[in-house]
Amino acid sequence: MNPIQIPPHINSAFERISDGIFSFNNTLQLTYMNKKAINFFHLTNDSYLGKHIDEIFQGDLLYTLQKQIAHSLSIQKDTRTEIHLKNDSKQWLEAYIYSSSDGITVLIRDISTRMQVEETIETKHKQLVLLSEAANHLLYKTEPKEILDSLFQELSAYLDLDVYFNYGYDQSRGKLRLMNYQGIPESVAKEIEWLEFGEAVCGCVAQKRERIVAEHIDQSEDPLVQLVKGFDIKAYACHPLLSAGKLIGTLSFGSSKRSKFTEEELDLIFTICNQVAITLEKISLISELKRKKEEAERANQGKTEFLSMMSHEFRTPMNSILGFAQILEADTKEPLTLKQKDKVQKILKSGRHLLTLINDLLNIGKINTEITATKFEATTLKSLIKEIVKMVQPIAETKNIKICNRVCINGKLKVMAETTRLTQVMLNLLSNAVKYTDNNGKIVLTSYIENNYLKIVVADNGIGIPPEEQEKIFTPFYRIFDRNMNIEGTGIGLALVKQYIHEMGGESGVESKPGHGSNFWFTLPISH
Ligand code: ADP
Repeated sequence: MNPIQIPPHINSAFERISDGIFSFNNTLQLTYMNKKAINFFHLTNDSYLGKHIDEIFQGDLLYTLQKQIAHSLSIQKDTRTEIHLKNDSKQWLEAYIYSSSDGITVLIRDISTRMQVEETIETKHKQLVLLSEAANHLLYKTEPKEILDSLFQELSAYLDLDVYFNYGYDQSRGKLRLMNYQGIPESVAKEIEWLEFGEAVCGCVAQKRERIVAEHIDQSEDPLVQLVKGFDIKAYACHPLLSAGKLIGTLSFGSSKRSKFTEEELDLIFTICNQVAITLEKISLISELKRKKEEAERANQGKTEFLSMMSHEFRTPMNSILGFAQILEADTKEPLTLKQKDKVQKILKSGRHLLTLINDLLNIGKINTEITATKFEATTLKSLIKEIVKMVQPIAETKNIKICNRVCINGKLKVMAETTRLTQVMLNLLSNAVKYTDNNGKIVLTSYIENNYLKIVVADNGIGIPPEEQEKIFTPFYRIFDRNMNIEGTGIGLALVKQYIHEMGGESGVESKPGHGSNFWFTLPISH
């Protein structure tokens, strides 16, 4: 058979292109092939010309090409197909079939590199999706079991996993405890609940703080892997969970369907284990914080209940002491001597002071224990403030302190409040202003309307408060202690102010400069 005659310039181009070109006549005998085709299949041009297609190609390649040629002829169209060779070269080929009236031309291209790149991109994409899913679980789930179970679900689909074990390091016992797992029955989990350091794969990983990967376990006699071999696991990877160098536990994954993991898969497991370690540590810190907070709250509750109960118990005898002292003082039938009168007055003064303290304690106890059933009502403020200023005036006069009431509001303006509490708030702020201002000082009361709220400011030119103390002074029993000044107090007044104002729907605070004075303020919602 004579080879087909191709014009020299076309032949020269065919000889140079990187695809293999085979031409067959209608009986599928080779009439032409270019240099690349010869190299492709290690053929020799001379010996194959005129041979039938099934003498040139074999196996899957022959089968696929014949099928594709038949298809092309039947539909009278050019076609394209991909062929994955199962031989040693594992090549991916792309074949184009061009049919014509006098024969068939087959163009074969090696696309192995492209397929590898596509495969890598696909794998990386899957890994990225997996990592982003993992990140979601780690971010939004709060229970370790929930996190690990859902992570395992994602990973098992991708890596053919059948089991996972998460051991936690129990510091007090110096052992590992199985915290979470999947893929084994509960009864078996009970049996392997505790592991010593150095025992089985997880114990070794914890001891050495290094990953262990076991492959082909079904054929292994290594004593270390016998435990997992018993679960029919063939490939197993166990990672230490470390947070800032501290051992938290181990996390391991196993497959009974495959004998080994690729390096890339192990890298992925490693990345996920690191994230899990950080998350588990975060969860444990949060639950520790919660536990401590609850403990503190319980202790605080106990303290306030005790205070409330004790102050109530103190009040009755105190009232009776004051009552009898007043009877002695007022007795005209048997009048007291001047000396006795002086002493009774001291009893009365100290007694009243003690009673104020007891009442304050009772109030602070009430704040924390009682659910306030107080009803707030629209209250006119202008007259109330005038009254309170009048009440404080006498104490201010003892220090020659001037109180200027510059509250400038419409007499009909009302705020939502409870009169007793509001009176107490104003009294506390004004009496503090007097207490913490030197003789001949000045106190100014002003008012502002801001966004449906009325703001009242009590400004003094007293000793002022250092910035770092300004928030603390609103906590119960907190006082800025100054032995030299020796100012009496309990540290309750401002705590009551803050609580009462908060209950009435407003806010309170202070701006102050040590040595220059303080502006204590509060707001209340205006009633329309
Ligand atoms: P008390 O006056 O009984 O100590 P308070 O709760 O009323 O308790 O006040 C807490 C602390 O805040 C006071 O001990 C004082 O140090 C500081 N303080 C309160 N009001 C003023 C003020 N007007 N000027 C300076 N310091 C003040």
